[in-house]
Amino acid sequence: MKRAARPKLASAKERAPLILARLKAAYPEASTALDFENAYQLLVATILSAQCTDTRVNMVTPEVFRRFPNPAVMARARRALLERLIQSTGFFRNKAKNLIGAARHLVDEFGGRVPRGMDELLSLPGVARKTANVVRGECFGLADGVVVDTHVTRLARRMGLTQHIDPVKIERDLMELIPQKEWIAFSHRMIRLGRTVCMARNPACPTCPVAFHCPKIGAG
Ligand code: SF4
Repeated sequence: MKRAARPKLASAKERAPLILARLKAAYPEASTALDFENAYQLLVATILSAQCTDTRVNMVTPEVFRRFPNPAVMARARRALLERLIQSTGFFRNKAKNLIGAARHLVDEFGGRVPRGMDELLSLPGVARKTANVVRGECFGLADGVVVDTHVTRLARRMGLTQHIDPVKIERDLMELIPQKEWIAFSHRMIRLGRTVCMARNPACPTCPVAFHCPKIGAG
């Protein structure tokens, strides 16, 4: 018996607002899962979150923040002690080097405060566009980009919102598809979906809130 032809999938531009609406409905609260109380703490937590779960980061940061409560103290940290505290987050030697280097830069160049500007943030050791976007979005309400981490990369590709693998090109595609005022929350919602439903292995498509608009199984 001949199978019915699958309806033609709408374009990424047509589907993006529909995906956005479904994500908003599924995850009304959209913010980072990292624990922090100020821009310095979020900067530290975000640097530690590279290749590590937010849950793990949240387990180590209370002690890190207690011992190194501000950039001036972090700038003078004993590297061996810091490495020991953050060891479980992985890549701890590099992360410790970046945390101390970033703190020194904050003290030397920015009066010990975390700057708001993208270029200034990118001048800090260990801070790439993703980290800068997180800090600007969460702490200052400034959205000049979409945070593209491994979850956003995987989901955007599965959803057919981009064909690229380079995060900078993926970000460019998403910035064209998603309204600027939604950029910060969109990233958080995508990350939430990536952690709970659209996992790297065995995505739970039948229970996915955006399934109808996803090329993997949808046709809307
Ligand atoms: S339908 Fe499946 S592949 Fe598409 S976003 Fe949902 S879980 Fe991921």
